[in-house]
Amino acid sequence: MKHFLPIVLLSLCTASCVNTATTEQKALPKNIIMVIGDGMGPAYTTAYRYFIDNPNTDVVEETVFDRHLTGLSSTHPAAGSGVVTDSAASATALASGIKTYNGAIGVDVDKNNIQSVLTWSKMQGKATGIVVTSQINHATPASYLTHNEHRRNYNAIADSYLDNGIKADLFLGGGKKYFIRKDRNLVREFRQAGFHYIDTYQDLTSLPNNKPVLGLFADTGLPWALDDTNKHRLSTMTKSAVHHLMNYQESKSKSNDGFFLLIEASQIDWAGHENDISAAMAEMDDLAKTLEYLEHFVEHHPNTLVVVTADHSTGGLTIGTKGKYAWQPEKLRRMKHSPSYIAKTLVKNKINKSIASALFNFELANEDITLLINSKNSTKTNNSTQIYKLKNTTDVEFSMTLTVKKLIDKYSNTGWTSGGHTAIDVPVLAFGQQSERFQGHQDNTEIAKKIFLLLNKK
Ligand code: MG
Ligand code: ZN
Repeated sequence: MKHFLPIVLLSLCTASCVNTATTEQKALPKNIIMVIGDGMGPAYTTAYRYFIDNPNTDVVEETVFDRHLTGLSSTHPAAGSGVVTDSAASATALASGIKTYNGAIGVDVDKNNIQSVLTWSKMQGKATGIVVTSQINHATPASYLTHNEHRRNYNAIADSYLDNGIKADLFLGGGKKYFIRKDRNLVREFRQAGFHYIDTYQDLTSLPNNKPVLGLFADTGLPWALDDTNKHRLSTMTKSAVHHLMNYQESKSKSNDGFFLLIEASQIDWAGHENDISAAMAEMDDLAKTLEYLEHFVEHHPNTLVVVTADHSTGGLTIGTKGKYAWQPEKLRRMKHSPSYIAKTLVKNKINKSIASALFNFELANEDITLLINSKNSTKTNNSTQIYKLKNTTDVEFSMTLTVKKLIDKYSNTGWTSGGHTAIDVPVLAFGQQSERFQGHQDNTEIAKKIFLLLNKK
């Protein structure tokens, strides 16, 4: 009891005194890079550590995620939506610092427009950009760029990227079908507004310094990293984006105000919804390469802040299941195709052991082949975790994909408890200038508030 008062005083002082001191003493970062691993709960960063581990050493090597871990973030939406968030409410919280309802894009619970750190950065003279592996009008990027009462209004969200004033100097991701439509060709309109348009990864190597850029590489989201022509497309896009934003800023103004860049590894979440550990690890690997590049960038540009977090966790991923004390990523490491690619190929061909083993890139047991053949003959699925069926998938392909994933889960001993999101806290990572501000537990809204502070918004 004797020590109670001094401890309280001391803790009050560390909370307020130190924060004020660091704001005043340390320069504000010139460049801010916000990275979101959609759906990347702590089980994903942990699984990735074992996935990438060098089996020839006794230790489990540290990953880029481990190196920069600073804390955890809670993710619950506004009270009316319960405690499990969707990507729209969570991205709005991360972008604007305000809790809202599930489905909301850049609006509060009363549907009023709220400002994001990206649009504020633009008003401060910074170059701004977004790089995502989903369509660019998907919930996470949309919450930084625009306002809409519901995330599913894809066409209206795409229209608003032009109609409400263009908020970014660079957009890279997917979404052609929303930007080139029968009723409106937004790509043509972006061109008329001075944008350079590209639609292949090769085009990323020759961006004109003096023009803003729109790059759409797929109709909706990009292919799975596992199936894409470039398995590290997020890191490829990020390198081009960072160089372009610096060059573009230099070409248009003498006073170089830096840039704000939002990067999203969008499909970790999609792999989680589909309970697909092989796709999840490939998306994580693309994100890891992206962060390793950003480490290198910050070394050469120490006036840059990088903050990394997730909007929520997806799938209730568990590393080890069914009472067995094991998780075996060995076979996952060998996989070269997504389960949906494997399933579609198996549906088209006569199934035998050599075809199936070649597709998985590891030897399957005879009982596995029987399971695959049975799955082709019966489309009745025991879909216990309620995985969504994709629109362009037939019943037999869906049933086959579930069987392929069941085998992958069996060989790796991976578990799932949901086809949706869960409310577990997510990791927060930060490095570069003023990264020490992101320590400990913080609510997702506080991440935006801290970034606003570093952007001089009082
Ligand atoms: Mg997202
Ligand atoms: Zn999701």
